[in-house]
Amino acid sequence: MKPGTDPKAMNRGPSPLPRLGMGTWHMGESATGRAAEVGALRLGIELGMGLIDTAEMYAQGGAEEVVGEAIRGRRERVFVVSKFYPHHASRKELAAACDRSRRRLGIDTIDCYLYHWRGSVPLAETVPVLEELVARGHIASWGVSNFDVADMEELFAIPGGEHAAANQVLYNLARRGIEYDLLGWCGSRGLDVMAYSPLDEGPLARHPEVVRVAKESGFTAAQVAIAWTLRHPHVVSIPKAGREEHVRANAACATLRLDAQALESLDRAFPPPAQRRPLEVI
Ligand code: NAP
Repeated sequence: MKPGTDPKAMNRGPSPLPRLGMGTWHMGESATGRAAEVGALRLGIELGMGLIDTAEMYAQGGAEEVVGEAIRGRRERVFVVSKFYPHHASRKELAAACDRSRRRLGIDTIDCYLYHWRGSVPLAETVPVLEELVARGHIASWGVSNFDVADMEELFAIPGGEHAAANQVLYNLARRGIEYDLLGWCGSRGLDVMAYSPLDEGPLARHPEVVRVAKESGFTAAQVAIAWTLRHPHVVSIPKAGREEHVRANAACATLRLDAQALESLDRAFPPPAQRRPLEVI
C-alpha cells in the first residue's frame, strides 16, 4: 500500500507495504541527539527503508517530531505508522490524539494508525472512530498492536473490525510464540504482521549462536536476526538504529536471504514453539 491509498486494498492479495522499516522508540528524548536521529532516519529513507514506525508515547510526542523533521520533503517516499495510547482510544479522546500526532508529524494523513495496546475502552467504541478517521482522510488505514488471537477474534466480530490492516507484535528469534497461531491467523486474513524489536532490543546482535551463523553466511549477527524475521511474506520488520553503520547494515537486509542450513542452525538454537504461549510484550 502506498501512502494515501485505499486502506481496504490492504486486504486484497499480498501486501505491497515496504517490508523493511525503521523504529523510533527512544528517539526524541534529548535535544542533543536530535540531529543524529533525523540523519539516521533520512539515511534509511535514502537506502530504501520506506516505512517508519513511531508512537505518541515515544518521548511524549518527541519521536513523532523527529520523524516529522526527517520526512520533510520526502513524504511520498515514506509509509508513516504511528500509535495511540489506550487511554486515548475513546470517542471523546481519539480524534484529538490523532490531530496532535498529525501536527507533530507534519502530515495530513497517517498511513497506518495503530492501537498501541488494549486498555479499558471497548473495541466497539474505538473501531467506529477509526473508521471515521479513515473517511475524513486523517488516517489511510488502521491496525492494532500487542493483540493476541483472542483479541483479534473479538476485533473481527465487531462491524468494521475486519478492516484492521496490521498487528504489530514482538517477534524475533528469541520470541517465536506467534508462530504457533497468531502469525497464521493474521496471514490467512491478509493482515500484515509488523515485527517489533527484531533484535530483541539489541542482544541478538551479540548472541553467540547468531554470531556463528552470521560468520558462516558472511553477514553480521544483527543482519541475520533481521533477515530471519523477513522470511515470511506478511511480516514487516522495524529495527531501530540510531548509528549510521547500523542503518546501513539494516538496509542491506532487504535483499538478504538465509539459506536452509542457516535456518536449520537457528531453529536448533531458538526452537519454534511446540505449544501455545500467551503473546509476549515489551
Ligand atoms: P530493536 O530494533 O530490536 O533493537 C534496537 C537496538 O539494536 C538499538 O540499541 C540499536 O542501536 C541496536 N541495533 C540496531 N541495528 C543494529 C545493527 N545493525 N547492529 C547492532 N546493533 C544494532 O528494538 P526496539 O527499538 O525495541 O524495536 C524496534 C521498534 O519497534 C521500536 O523502535 C518501535 O518503533 C517498535 N516497538 C513497538 C512496540 C509496541 O508495543 N508496539 C514495542 C517495542 C518496540 P543504535 O540505536 O545505537 O543504532
